[in-house]
Order: sequence, then structure tokens, then C-alpha cells
Amino acid sequence: MKAQAAVVTGRDEPWRVVEIDVAPPAAGEVLVEWHAAGLCHSDEHFRSGDRVAPGAESALYPMVGGHEAAGIVAEVGAGVTTVAPGDHVVASFSPICGRCRYCASGRGALCNGNKDFMLRGQLVDGAHRHHLDGEPLYLMAKLGTFAERTVVAERSVIPIPEDVPFAAAALVSCGVATGWGSAVERAETRPGDVVVVVGCGGLGISAVQGARSVGAREIVAVDPLPLRRDGAKSFGATRTAASVDEARGIIADLTDGQGADRVILTPSVVTPEILHAGLDVTGKDAVLVVTGMGPFGEAPVPLDIGAFALLNKQIRGCLFGGMDPRTATPRLLDLYRAGVLDIDSMITRYPLSDIGTALADQLEGRNLRAVLECHGG
Ligand SMILES: [Zn+2]
Ligand SMILES: [Zn+2]
Repeated sequence: MKAQAAVVTGRDEPWRVVEIDVAPPAAGEVLVEWHAAGLCHSDEHFRSGDRVAPGAESALYPMVGGHEAAGIVAEVGAGVTTVAPGDHVVASFSPICGRCRYCASGRGALCNGNKDFMLRGQLVDGAHRHHLDGEPLYLMAKLGTFAERTVVAERSVIPIPEDVPFAAAALVSCGVATGWGSAVERAETRPGDVVVVVGCGGLGISAVQGARSVGAREIVAVDPLPLRRDGAKSFGATRTAASVDEARGIIADLTDGQGADRVILTPSVVTPEILHAGLDVTGKDAVLVVTGMGPFGEAPVPLDIGAFALLNKQIRGCLFGGMDPRTATPRLLDLYRAGVLDIDSMITRYPLSDIGTALADQLEGRNLRAVLECHGG
């Protein structure tokens, strides 16, 4: 069958919406009609190539982007038992095995079975079921959700209730979970904490909401773009600043010069300067969470060992908010339905054909999260 899809053909090439060929689902696979797909900065890392190793281009391009999405199962392959045609689902870029030590201990995002999820080919058999003019296509995170429909593994989708709007559900599948979990699970924000969130796109706004929901006393939102700072305020930030340097005085005032309790780095790209500035405003026995990614091949960053040995500071990484996608998804959707988590106000919608505008708007801070409407009906 045919499908419209946004494809990038080489490093730093623009997205092009083209017609691709999609083969039927094989055993253990499902065909999903994607109704909403969020633009996550991970897609941009792959499009721009700043996370692509030199020489690795042929393994990635041409590529169908997208990994943060929701849709409807249209068809299932042999042996599929957990979803049926008509079921509403979200994409899961962490297709957990359920059996390894990480899955068994509730840390499914770190599943040992995920080590190949960025490689070419379908998850179930490594074959290709998506082609452009006869050429096999790479699917971002084995999902490729910037498309009307793609064939993905049964493990790569998680069922959701039908009453949740697709766009909100889509954001829960990556950005909202990652940001919210950064503040709640990885930073372990506690009531009364002073929290700093650096970078206030979809991830940062979700981190602000997470920090607010567990009772942070003050939330300092840092972003160079005014719309993002205003957005952060409307979602619960108490102070804003254009840079960590500008925030330094605010943080000192709020903490008697001790530094923040939790600092969360969610900028588009974590540079060594941002890491150092973040660590600098992190207080004693406090936690710095690194959620955003650095550019590929970035030189190792020197760190002040005394900050750890003498001040008890911690730096923690963060994948999918440190949560298990199968348990986090229904939990976050419940918070959304209860009105604790505001996802709708984060969303600006674009048709799939306007992905170029959506991306430009997102990079220039004219939206908080672009959501593509992929399936034409
Ligand atoms: Zn993402
Ligand atoms: Zn596993």
C-alpha cells in the first residue's frame, strides 16, 4: 500500500513529504495509522546529523522520521495478541522485552533488548517493509511516525483509552514522559525544593509541570526564547531567566546562596558550558539531571571532582524520565485526564505537509511542541 511520509535523504537535508510503499505486517507486527506525531528534538538530531557519526550516513538515510505519536491499529500480523484492529495506541521507542533484569525491576526504558533500536530494519526480523522508489527506508526508532501509516512491532505500541485525544497521547509517548519523569523520578523533587529547569520546550515545560505537581517551592525556568519563558510561567514556573548566568542571582536569593536542590537540563543541545553552569548552580547534596543530548563526538567534559567528593553533588542521566513506558503511559494519561498535567496548551497542530514550517516554528520558539496531523482520514 501507499502512504504519505516525511523523509530526509541526507545529513541536514530538509524533510520532504513523499509517497512511500508500505508492505503488510509480518508475524509479530502491526500496521498503525498515525493520527498525531510530535516533533521531538531527537528527530532533529537525526535530520541535522549532529548525532550522526561521520560515515554513518548510509546506515540512516533515506529516513522516515518520528517516534512520538498516537494512532489506530489498522491491521495485525500473525500471532499478535495484545492489540487488535481499531485499538488506539501510542508509539513506544522503548519496545521492552519484559524479561531482562531492567524490565523485571521496572526500568523498562533501559531494556537490554533495546540495544539495536536505532539500527536499520524491522524490529522483528531486520527486513525492510518501507521503500521509496524501490530503495529501503530507515525508520526512526523502528517507528517512523511522520507518516500516514507504518508497520511496526507489536512491542512498539502501547494501547491507550479511546477517549484520550491523539495529540495529547502522542506527547506522552516521549516528551511529556521524559520531562515529567526528569523532575519527579530522576531528580526526585520534593515538596519545598528550589528547582531550575534549563531549556523550556516540550521537555522543559513537562519538567516544570512535574516539579509543580510534587510541591516544588520555586521553579526557575531558563530559556533564551521569550515565548518559552512565558510558556514556562503559565505552566507553573515562578521565576524566569534567559540564561543560567542570568538565573544565578535569582537562585542565590531563593536559597541563601546555597544553590538549587534540583537542576534539570532540557535544552535542545547540552553543551559543556550549559553542563558546567548547571553544576555550578546545583547546591550541596543536590541533583543535576542531564536529559538533553550533546552533539555527537563532543570532547569529554572535565569536571570538578571536589564538587562530588566534598559537596555530595550528583549528576544523573535520564532516559524516558527513568520510567517504564508500560506503566508510565497510563499513569500520565490519568494525570492528564485529572487536569494535573496540561498537555493541550503545549500543542500547536500542523498538517504533515507543513512539517518544514512546524520545525522552523519549533526551532525558533514560536511553538512549545509541534504536532503533525499525519492521517488524512
Ligand atoms: Zn523524543
Ligand atoms: Zn527488557
